[in-house]
Amino acid sequence: MELAIISGKGGTGKSSISAAFATLQKDIVLADCDVDAANLYLLFNPECDEEHVFISGHKAVMDEEKCINCGICVDYCRFDAIVENENGVSILETLCEGCLLCSRICPQGAITVEEEDRSRYYAGRFKNGRMVYGRLAPGEENTGKLVSKVREKAKEIAEKFGIEHIIIDGPPGIGCSAISAITGVDAVIVVTEPTVSGVHDLKRTLQLTQGFKLPTSVIINKFDINRELSSEIELYCNESGIRVISKLPFNPIVVEAMVHCSSITDYAHDSEISELIKKAHTDIFAGVR
Ligand code: SF4
Ligand code: SF4
Repeated sequence: MELAIISGKGGTGKSSISAAFATLQKDIVLADCDVDAANLYLLFNPECDEEHVFISGHKAVMDEEKCINCGICVDYCRFDAIVENENGVSILETLCEGCLLCSRICPQGAITVEEEDRSRYYAGRFKNGRMVYGRLAPGEENTGKLVSKVREKAKEIAEKFGIEHIIIDGPPGIGCSAISAITGVDAVIVVTEPTVSGVHDLKRTLQLTQGFKLPTSVIINKFDINRELSSEIELYCNESGIRVISKLPFNPIVVEAMVHCSSITDYAHDSEISELIKKAHTDIFAGVR
């Protein structure tokens, strides 16, 4: 079973719940697909077995010695990434889309296009099984592609070691990387919280999972900080045919567990919140174990 745990926005407790699920089960592949802000490796400190370079894109680089400031490339760049001023012609790295055009039309051969190769993805072992995670370098792009690399590697490892279940800690939001994290999974859990932005983003996320026809459940985290909005979420889910599998109360143990680099269920195994997470875990994995 491939289970994706996602959220419409950051800060809902998605990764804490992913971590708890990952430690409630022996022999799991945990795929941290929150590649912009991967942090489960900090929590679980996996033994790294593999490191892979991820080519996130290309950037044009100009050799100022060769450039004669003819300005041809300025006219051709469709992304306005090449500018001309009193100092001559230069490339704005942040706007360059790596389309290669300037390198082809420059009469002086002054522009080359280089790979952006600072991002990585890793595979290793942690106490409950195997772990794969990606880390996008600051300023690099193509998060969706990196997420799919992490998922591919997680599947490869699951097959190689005969591991039945993959838990994906997905990125927040409904963008390219979130789509890449949920496409084709067996089940999705959307973690939300009863705040105005939480409700708003939950609805957008559910539209996404319903659009992909993915079996989806919802966990309302910190439900007791605003019971009215929690009821609104439950009503919306009921009307949309989506199960709310758990309502977790606000509990400082969640932060304490993080401070101690532990999952909630490892840190306070018999606490009320751990019992509720265990119940949700059983609910999701019942019948597929
Ligand atoms: S086309 Fe080549 S030579 Fe002309 S401004 Fe651009 S980089 Fe310089
Ligand atoms: S590679 Fe493409 S986007 Fe980048 S500067 Fe050259 S023409 Fe513009």
